[in-house]
Amino acid sequence: MIEVFRSEDRGRGLRATTDLRKGTLVLTSAPFAYVLSKKQKGIRCDHCLNKQTTLLRCSGCKYMKYCNRECQKGAWSSHKSECTALKRVEPKIPPDFVILLSRILWKLKSTDDNWSENLVSVVDLESNYTLLSDDQKEALGQFVIVMHSYWGQGALPVQVPDIKAVLELCSKIKNNSFAISDEEMQADIGTGVYLSCSLLNHSCDPNCVAEFDEMNINIRAIKDISKGEELLISYVDVFAPSEDRQKDLMDIYKFSCRCNLCRTKKHDRSMLQDFKSSMTISKQNSVKDLLHELHNLCDARNFQQIYNITSGYVEREYLPVENIYMTKILDFAMDAAIELKMFGRAFQHGAAALHAYRKYLDESHPLTGLQIMKLGKILLYQEKNEDALQMLLEALKILQITYSKTGIIMQSLTKLVAQCQVELRHKNLGE
Ligand SMILES: [Zn+2]
Ligand SMILES: [Zn+2]
Ligand SMILES: [Zn+2]
Repeated sequence: MIEVFRSEDRGRGLRATTDLRKGTLVLTSAPFAYVLSKKQKGIRCDHCLNKQTTLLRCSGCKYMKYCNRECQKGAWSSHKSECTALKRVEPKIPPDFVILLSRILWKLKSTDDNWSENLVSVVDLESNYTLLSDDQKEALGQFVIVMHSYWGQGALPVQVPDIKAVLELCSKIKNNSFAISDEEMQADIGTGVYLSCSLLNHSCDPNCVAEFDEMNINIRAIKDISKGEELLISYVDVFAPSEDRQKDLMDIYKFSCRCNLCRTKKHDRSMLQDFKSSMTISKQNSVKDLLHELHNLCDARNFQQIYNITSGYVEREYLPVENIYMTKILDFAMDAAIELKMFGRAFQHGAAALHAYRKYLDESHPLTGLQIMKLGKILLYQEKNEDALQMLLEALKILQITYSKTGIIMQSLTKLVAQCQVELRHKNLGE
C-alpha cells in the first residue's frame, strides 16, 4: 500500500503504491518509546495513557502510576532501569524529554541490533542538530547534563559512545517525536517516537492525519490519494495563518514549507481579518498574549476566569468570527461555558467558531467533526433532540473517516446518537 522513497526536496518520504480511498488506515504503529506528559500525572495511566479515577502507584519509585497490575506489567520492560534511576534522584523528577530519551537509550542498550521497525531504525532518523540555534543547542546540552545525573555513574550505553552522539540523538528525537493528543485532539497528553511514521513529511494541507489509540498511532487518509502520491501530515496547527505555521516549522523543524497553502497564502487575508490598521502588529501580539494566558488558565482549570475574560472580547465583537484568533477565543469561551453548565452560551460561541472550521479545514478534517460533535452534545443537554440528532449524525459522517469504530470517540458518538433517537421516539409516542 505504501513505500519509502526519496523526494526531490524533502528527503525521505512515504508514497502510495496503489490508489487509496479517503478513510483508509495507511499506517499503524506502536511507539518505540513514549512518555505521559507531567501535566497528566495522576489523571492518566503511565502505560496505556487512559484516564482513570484511581491509579496504582509503582511501589519502587512511587512516581509512575497505572490502571492495574496488567498495565504495570506491560510497562515493566521500559520502566525497570528507570525505576532505580527515579528512586535515586527523588524528589527531583527529570523533565519529560529526559525520561523519554532515557527510555530510548535503555531500549537501544538492551537490544543487540539497532532495533528497527520495518521501515526505519532509530539511528536512521534525520537530525537537524547543525541547524539549531545556539540557544537550542545549549538547551539540549542541559538535557544531557540532567540525564547524566539521572542515570548515575558511567551509564551511557555502548551504541552512543560520546557526547556528540547523544546530542545528535537528542536532536533526532526532538525532530521526529509526535505529540500524543487526547481523544478529542484538544490537549497533548504525551510524546512518542513512532519510527515508520517519522518518515511522513509535512504539508499544511495534508492528505493524512494522525489519531491515537492509547499509545499507538494510526495514520489515515483524509483525502483520496492516487498511486504514486506522497503521504503528508501536518506537523503544526493547521488552524493558523501561514506566518504562524512557517514560524513554528522553522523554530522546531528548520525548514520552510512550500505547500500550496503557503505559496498562495490562501486563507491568510480572511484568517487575519481586521488586522489591517497600523495597529496590526500590536493587536496581533496582544491577542497572542491573551491566548497564551487562556491556555494557562485552562491548564489550571480556572474556567470562571476564562469565562469572564472571553465574555468581554465576545461581547464587543473584538474581531470578526472568521479571524482565526477570534475563533480560538470563542473556543475557549465555549469550553468554559460548558464547564460552568451555561449551555446556551456554550452553543452560541461554539456555533460562531464553527464558521472558521468549515471555511479553513478540509471537509473531512476530524477537528471539524469534533466541533460539531460538541455542539450536538450541548443541544442534547438542552433537550433540543431534533437539532442534536442532526448535528451528531453530521459529526458521525465526518469522524468515521478518521476514527476507528472501536475507539472511545466513535463509541461515545454512536451512544449519543442512539440516546437521541430513543428520546425522540419517546417524545413522538407521548404526543
Ligand atoms: Zn517504579
Ligand atoms: Zn493503564
Ligand atoms: Zn505549508
